Amino acid sequence: MAKKSTDRIKARRPVAARNKPAPRAKLRLVKPVHKDRVLITGAAGFLGSHLCDRFLKEGFHVIGMDNLITGSLKNIEHLFKREDFEFYHHDVTKFVHVPGDLRYILHFASPASPIDYEKIPIQTLKVGSLGTHNLLGLARVKKARILVASTSEVYGDPKVHPQDESYWGHVNPIGKRSMYDESKRFQEALTMAYHTYHGLETRMVRIFNTYGPRMRLNDGRVVPAFMGQALRGEDLTIFGKGDQTRSFCYVDDLIEGIYRLLLSDYAGPVNIGNPKEVTIKQFAQEILKLTRTDQKLIYKPLPSDDPMQRQPDITLAKKLLKWQPKVDRAEGMKRTYAYFKSLSKAELNEKEHFSFEKYARK
Ligand code: UDP
Repeated sequence: MAKKSTDRIKARRPVAARNKPAPRAKLRLVKPVHKDRVLITGAAGFLGSHLCDRFLKEGFHVIGMDNLITGSLKNIEHLFKREDFEFYHHDVTKFVHVPGDLRYILHFASPASPIDYEKIPIQTLKVGSLGTHNLLGLARVKKARILVASTSEVYGDPKVHPQDESYWGHVNPIGKRSMYDESKRFQEALTMAYHTYHGLETRMVRIFNTYGPRMRLNDGRVVPAFMGQALRGEDLTIFGKGDQTRSFCYVDDLIEGIYRLLLSDYAGPVNIGNPKEVTIKQFAQEILKLTRTDQKLIYKPLPSDDPMQRQPDITLAKKLLKWQPKVDRAEGMKRTYAYFKSLSKAELNEKEHFSFEKYARK
């Protein structure tokens, strides 16, 4: 009869060894190594690259996919030597094929800043609609669970404050942000239809303003814009009077919330963000203090459809996922500043917003 494992533990050590201290077992933090494969679209982007890091750390085999319009290989080049990471240069609005099994799909491919989606409006609409459709189809074939990245933009310029998941939003369907907002709203509707009609396991995260290392310097969003301006010695451009508010979440907190949501059993949309609200003017002043620069604040016209206030109600995430943000703005901005400071002079002065033209010429 095979010995029980407890018998082995109880077995006596040889007499000669009994007087010596028992060798101490080496303390090792055991990584859960498993073969589950996860597909992350938008892998070379800000959030996608952090998701790749997180899933690799959890022991998954990660397949990253990106068409590199707004993403950058620099965000994932540290992963290229790993055997548990693969990268596909592919546009998800075209048929998506991935050989082998998939346990999870995380759909994070999309331009995500107002100047991006104004410049590539049709691509933005397609990635949230056709791209999501392709990935939902892939999830069905692979019997995978899919989590799609939605956004606080589904609430538009909200009439309810703070925004909870039951609010339907106030969106201009043909406005300056409509290509992003409506493609994400369509994405939610399509994802929910796959859940109810096909019984697919789906998850939806509504992401509020998030910041941290690997944001693209020239993507026009307020954090990289102010950081770049401070580092180049330029004045900080405030749109409007700067009394519009945002609530900024540090990227590590967001990734933790997404990871927990994926593993939960809840198919409805869930807000993930940091409820701490700040006006853009106050935020600019905080950045001047942090960067110890004495530039001025200068005022530019407020872009149309720029939401006046935004703050997530995270009651649901707290209850469902036992999650809430841990990194406060001062600490998060310190880490983010360290990243932007580490960029080369050439990168700091890079004027090109993204490589769509290069991509389109191919
Ligand atoms: N903003 C600003 N100056 C800039 C860039 C942005 O005042 O150089 C403002 C922008 O008008 C908005 C807020 O900062 O009210 C956040 O803008 P962002 O593009 O980061 O995100 P979103 O508007 O999508 O929340």
